[in-house]
Amino acid sequence: MFWTKSFITTSKEAPEGAESVSHRLMLRTQMVRMLIAGVYSYLPLGWRVLKKIEEIIREEMVRAGAQEVLLPALQPLELWQKTGRDELLGETMLRFTDRRGRKLCLGPTHEEVVTQIAAHFVRSYRDLPFTLFQVQTKFRDEIRPRFGVVRSCEFIMKDAYSFDRDDAGLDKSYETMRAAYERIFRRMGLDFLTAKADSGIIGGDVSHEFMVPAESGEDVLYRCKICRAFSSRQDTADSGCPHCKQDMEKINALEVGHIFKLRDKYSDVLGVKYLDESGRQRVVQMGCYGIGVSRLIPAVIEQNHDADGIIWPRAVAPYEVMVVPVNVKESGVVNAAVLLHQRLKEAGFSVLVDDRDERAGVKFKDADLLGSPVRITIGNKWLQTKKFEVTDRRSRQSVEAQDAELVAAVVRLLEGARKDG
Ligand code: ATP
Ligand code: MG
Repeated sequence: MFWTKSFITTSKEAPEGAESVSHRLMLRTQMVRMLIAGVYSYLPLGWRVLKKIEEIIREEMVRAGAQEVLLPALQPLELWQKTGRDELLGETMLRFTDRRGRKLCLGPTHEEVVTQIAAHFVRSYRDLPFTLFQVQTKFRDEIRPRFGVVRSCEFIMKDAYSFDRDDAGLDKSYETMRAAYERIFRRMGLDFLTAKADSGIIGGDVSHEFMVPAESGEDVLYRCKICRAFSSRQDTADSGCPHCKQDMEKINALEVGHIFKLRDKYSDVLGVKYLDESGRQRVVQMGCYGIGVSRLIPAVIEQNHDADGIIWPRAVAPYEVMVVPVNVKESGVVNAAVLLHQRLKEAGFSVLVDDRDERAGVKFKDADLLGSPVRITIGNKWLQTKKFEVTDRRSRQSVEAQDAELVAAVVRLLEGARKDG
């Protein structure tokens, strides 16, 4: 992509009211734009990151044996009345009546819809187990939408639902999903913790949350200053680290995922039953598994930035390589940038060329702000020696490379920037 042909723009300042680092950086790079409080558009840079995150999640869900579906956002309230969650969700659920007089809501989550589908298809023990997942827009009329897409009223979630014959099956599905979640967050370069959690309005008895330590996080955890073990309970933390008895410090975190053993909470009410080997009727055991797909963008930025901008881990970078031809009035420099773009794309990298007629300082500042893991500068040195400068965004270390060594140098830096588990 060439900057002058793209929709990309940056701003020096974030609008007033952007309270967190990630929100400010997402606005300064025009990844998202607010329509009304709690509702955001994704612009090309933000959408590219979101797609990369979605792809990682999809790959790991499929690897874990889950099958993708797409369930409707538009749902009948009647179904929610059956499980009693119509009342439980209260004003969080956006409701309205259509022209036929049907009472509808915009789905804040999908346990009811997916369980009703399963009730129709499951008959015998041979139909089990299975896990379905989707990447879909959820609606929640949050009391306090905050920090941009961290807490919004319309957001993208990956939700998965497992259906098993018995507790042992559910335990296995749950552990498979938990392992998949760990792979997902590791691949994205996140430092995260898994905490036992309260099941809240989703229900069930066992649940775990995946927490990303971040200054602007609304959840609080306690972490041992020495061995890094953590606890989500203050009373535990007050008596010292459960492992090494050292002091624990209070840290803020963002919840990026939450998994639940629902057991028969939904399957019983909505009638997901099957006949076992001996012809006895039994209730299916369910689990549900959510990831805040859109919240993951700010989560990654909270953990990967410096004073000058974002430092994307390679796996989710909107562009892996940024090419900066310093003086676009030199036709040799422009030609070199076009050739480089071509070559790097052929080598499989995503590339943004800053072909604007701007001062070098402006371009370097924007490259830092946008945060591609690798920058290639075509500067004065190149004019004299045909040497490119290849710079690592995180360490700011540069190496010089001539044409023949260039791709290898980029690969070396990107491998370093991968932070892959
Ligand atoms: P929170 O405690 O942050 O309100 P939750 O426990 O209500 O979240 P879940 O029902 O567990 O959320 O949803 C699964 C995931 O969806 C959460 O772990 C979170 O990452 C994400 N999520 C939930 N609410 C929002 C929101 N309003 N905006 C963006 N992401 C959200
Ligand atoms: Mg939760």
